Amino acid sequence: MAKYKIFTFGCQMNVHDSEVIAGLLRQLGYEEADDLTEANLLIFNTCCVRENPERKVFGRVGNLQRLKEENPKLIIAICGCMVQQPEQLERIRKELPHVNLVFGTHNIHRLPELLAQVKDTGEQLFEVWDTEGSIVEGLPAARLDGLKAFVNVIYGCTNFCTYCIVPYVRGQERSRKPKAIRREIEGLAAQGYKEVTLLGQNVNAYGKDLDEAVTFADLLRMLDGTGGIERIRFTTSHPRDMSDDLIGAMGDLDTVCEHLHLPLQAGSNRILNRMNRGYTKEQYISLVDRIRKRIPHIALTTDLIVGFPGETEEDFEQTLQVVEEIGPDSAFTFIYSPRPGTVAAKMEDQVPEEVKRDRIYRLIELQNRLSLQRNHSLVGSIQEVLIEGPSQTDPGKYTGRTRGNKLVIFTGPADRGLLMPIRITEAQTWSLHGELMP
Ligand code: SF4
Repeated sequence: MAKYKIFTFGCQMNVHDSEVIAGLLRQLGYEEADDLTEANLLIFNTCCVRENPERKVFGRVGNLQRLKEENPKLIIAICGCMVQQPEQLERIRKELPHVNLVFGTHNIHRLPELLAQVKDTGEQLFEVWDTEGSIVEGLPAARLDGLKAFVNVIYGCTNFCTYCIVPYVRGQERSRKPKAIRREIEGLAAQGYKEVTLLGQNVNAYGKDLDEAVTFADLLRMLDGTGGIERIRFTTSHPRDMSDDLIGAMGDLDTVCEHLHLPLQAGSNRILNRMNRGYTKEQYISLVDRIRKRIPHIALTTDLIVGFPGETEEDFEQTLQVVEEIGPDSAFTFIYSPRPGTVAAKMEDQVPEEVKRDRIYRLIELQNRLSLQRNHSLVGSIQEVLIEGPSQTDPGKYTGRTRGNKLVIFTGPADRGLLMPIRITEAQTWSLHGELMP
């Protein structure tokens, strides 16, 4: 029996690409291997947004040389964002000669043909498209969860934030047709899925590139309640594309959760401008105000970068002030690291590593305090929780997520997939504790 193992690095787009890769392999008769040694096919789905995952891929694939010598029929493949960069392709050719197949983000659907070719010829095959083709619909996806599913609605990004490699490796924004998205979600609902997360690097730019006049708000209205799906989330939204119509749709639609991931990145207008983010801190703060007025219980999460080139202590303090003012429920905090090929990597005034480290500690300390405060404000409330099952870390307890996407640990029992009311009794920085309502 042919067996595969996929190693996924990076964001939810990559996680979902791996589900599609697994779906294609299952159609070819492959099964998932429990561990690396029983697999005939190893696939590394890579990320290039930061340097560390790239380093890990070269290290881990490099270490497979011995396994490959012991099992010459083993096929090792690398795909994903990292291989869309010509210099990394060159590096793979030089440093990883035991890799059999390299394919990119635009030609995942070609995997069955590429694998057949590698098996037939026994030769190394690199097929990376440097431009995006049209969207390929109907690819299978072997989703891992059974309860919650990722659904791509738009591919690529046209924003060109100066620190970000995504527009270069994922191409221009291309939206799927609403009907195709609806059909996929109907299929998921029929299989028992309860929640979908609509995915896009810039999800709320959905529709701008389509011939038919449809916005992301329109799409949410079309998808609300599809096939009995109970919850709809989406990520990642750009502040610039957060229209009042979209805020209104989020407030009006029953199945759209009160959760918004809205990257701020920095609180200094000078740095936001250098990042090419397309908004000022004042515009971001006023946007958050409008969102909270319309959807008072919304959980707001964000992304923040410290140490962007040219960031002074004063710029950084402005980030702290804006974060304090908006009080996000949680934040992904990043130390800026230059990505070759981006505009910011060529900026001369890079910030010393020790300064970046000091700033990230201060930012995390502030965010942890704010997260705890926000969670404390929920103690005593009753939250609708989608039950995920027994807790992996708290024996005898169960876990689930609120509509705001907060993790709740509670005393069960409760069946996976049910939506149950839970009274929140205790708050921690990263989770809530509660009890099932009678
Ligand atoms: S919006 Fe900016 S940060 Fe996000 S993927 Fe596009 S270029 Fe990158």
